[in-house]
Amino acid sequence: MTPLLEVKGLKKYFPQRSGLFNQKTSYFKAVDDVSFTVPKGKTLGLVGESGSGKTTIGKCAIRLLEPTEGKILFDGEDISHLPRKVMQQRRSDIQMIYQSPAASLNSRMTIGQIIAEPLWIHQKMGGYQAQQRVLELLNVVGLKEEHYHRFPHEFSGGQQQRVGIARALAVNPKLIILDEPTSALDVSVQAQVLNLLQQLQDDFDLTYVFISHDLGVVRYLCDEVALLYLGKIVEIASVKTIFEAPKHPYTQALISAIPEPDPEDKKEQILLKGDATSARPRQGCPFAGRCHAPKIAACETKEPPLIATDAGHYVACHLHTTHSHPSGEHHA
Ligand code: SF4
Repeated sequence: MTPLLEVKGLKKYFPQRSGLFNQKTSYFKAVDDVSFTVPKGKTLGLVGESGSGKTTIGKCAIRLLEPTEGKILFDGEDISHLPRKVMQQRRSDIQMIYQSPAASLNSRMTIGQIIAEPLWIHQKMGGYQAQQRVLELLNVVGLKEEHYHRFPHEFSGGQQQRVGIARALAVNPKLIILDEPTSALDVSVQAQVLNLLQQLQDDFDLTYVFISHDLGVVRYLCDEVALLYLGKIVEIASVKTIFEAPKHPYTQALISAIPEPDPEDKKEQILLKGDATSARPRQGCPFAGRCHAPKIAACETKEPPLIATDAGHYVACHLHTTHSHPSGEHHA
């Protein structure tokens, strides 16, 4: 299947400064050698705790952040180092929807103006034509024509997120980065927004990267899921494989924490102790300080590479190093 987005060896390091003259002393490796592909019309979930690098990857993919190293190919074109002006023209193809709808909508603009703004900027569309397009988009996301002249504060969280989705759709994007689009919403509203996103993907042949800290949420929308831990992918596979046969102890722990709708199916939860950064050992596997699996000597001395354990299933854990993988890269 043709990939729409290819990320190869992506690194994003932030300089850490300290001392009297605020000099650069080290680097914080927010994203450290991450590779994946997202085929056209499919959804990849990027899942991890805060500090795992998932949002940084999303921002690098649309060049809101400059990658330190690595390549980002969009529809076959290397966009990793496109000049800002050229990148601006590509922005209509790649849109981002944010976690907090209220914060991402300008409170002094009407809903009509908010949704029309990308049309003015990217397509130089104005007047009657833009107004008609906004009305059409309101309908597409389940809002009404009378909402056109209202302001964001008059809407519920779910409605505000629908406005954010309409704004992103305005310029007919091919790829949408969804950065925790439902985490600020009530559970009942979350399901409605997820259904809407699913419907829009089918109707407009959209490709999604779905960023979330909640593995349970990505289950219904994603085709493939990548688990991120301290800036690296530790497991990536189809959503079915991740949920039915997770191999990395971190993935197993996250799955065990998902509440079951039926209390009869209640499984034992694997508790994750501490947080990723403070529990990180000086050497060996970055997850060793929190791992529940019976460890082997290599866990304490060598960082496990991401390797293929089955077709399309990659894991970074010494317990699964049966087939070595030459590059550590993932190719969907
Ligand atoms: Fe746990 Fe060792 Fe696997 Fe790391 S490599 S996840 S410490 S078993």
